[in-house]
Amino acid sequence: MKDRLIESIELNCPLCGDTHRVEKRLRETQALFKGEIVDYEEVYFLCDRADDEENEFVPAKVMDSNLLKVRDSYRIAKGLLASYEIAEIRSYYRLTQSEFAAMLGWGEVTVTRYESKTIQDETYDSLMRMVRENSMLALEYLDKHRERFTDKRYSEIRQTVKNRLDVSSPMYLKMQEIKSMYTKFEEASDYNGFKSLDIEKLTTIMGYYASEVNHLYKVKMMKLLWYTDALYYKRYGKSMTGLVYVHMTYGALPIGFNEILSVPTIQVVEEMMYEDIGYKIVPTSKVDESIFSKEELSVLELVAGKFKNYRSKQIVDYMHEEKAYIETSDHELIPFSLARELKELS
Ligand SMILES: [Zn+2]
Repeated sequence: MKDRLIESIELNCPLCGDTHRVEKRLRETQALFKGEIVDYEEVYFLCDRADDEENEFVPAKVMDSNLLKVRDSYRIAKGLLASYEIAEIRSYYRLTQSEFAAMLGWGEVTVTRYESKTIQDETYDSLMRMVRENSMLALEYLDKHRERFTDKRYSEIRQTVKNRLDVSSPMYLKMQEIKSMYTKFEEASDYNGFKSLDIEKLTTIMGYYASEVNHLYKVKMMKLLWYTDALYYKRYGKSMTGLVYVHMTYGALPIGFNEILSVPTIQVVEEMMYEDIGYKIVPTSKVDESIFSKEELSVLELVAGKFKNYRSKQIVDYMHEEKAYIETSDHELIPFSLARELKELS
């Protein structure tokens, strides 16, 4: 086990009461934290005038930093971001702790706690990673929580985040494409379910289905999105994502269906099926379900529960019996008002 001298400093020693030179040392040791044994590097002081049994002491401030190291070792062992990594993400976007929390829509002191005492939830952890990896997503979150910033700070932060955008990245280009496809649907109408496109919500919904539903391929994902929007519309008079759907042979297909597959919460993987290649959708990380209201979550759970084990063809056949499908024709936009007649999902 490593145990080495950092420096020798003169101070008022709490053990012998004298002012003298004591050794400040660093050693590898272990601690028990939340039931796990974690390795960490502890800083301690050594007095050569006290008994061998009780010749070590740790000032309160050093104790705090030792504890932070214990928590960070625990975080790393659990695959979570260490406190300094969270701080790095903030400094990447030049944000204070409370600004980072505000950007993500969290309580003001959430990030402050994560950088000190509290071990973050897995979903909060993956959101922080995602905004670090995708400045596009950081921008979405910032815009979504704009009211939490002064105009001046908002535009400063927006500029920093934009400077981080890799404008040549495929994701950036796809998101720009989606936005331009939806510019003509910015106004609330029967076609977007009286809601303008909410990419953040769409991203989270797709991540949710990717982890909750089996046999998930492109066609099935698109039907799940339509059922989500249609059922939410039927219950609350507006859609959840703001996607606009077209009547196609295989049921409802949102405009930009290829582009939305680039959202950061999911990954499309090629899979050999018989003699053919299928494109299976898998989650990239756990999504933050706390962005959903109780009503939204109940719709998602119902749709996921109903279609969990359906194959693509079964959900297509199921949708073919919907009035929204029967009463529209090929390539026609599907108005949400027809979702009022949605079959009961149960
Ligand atoms: Zn001493």
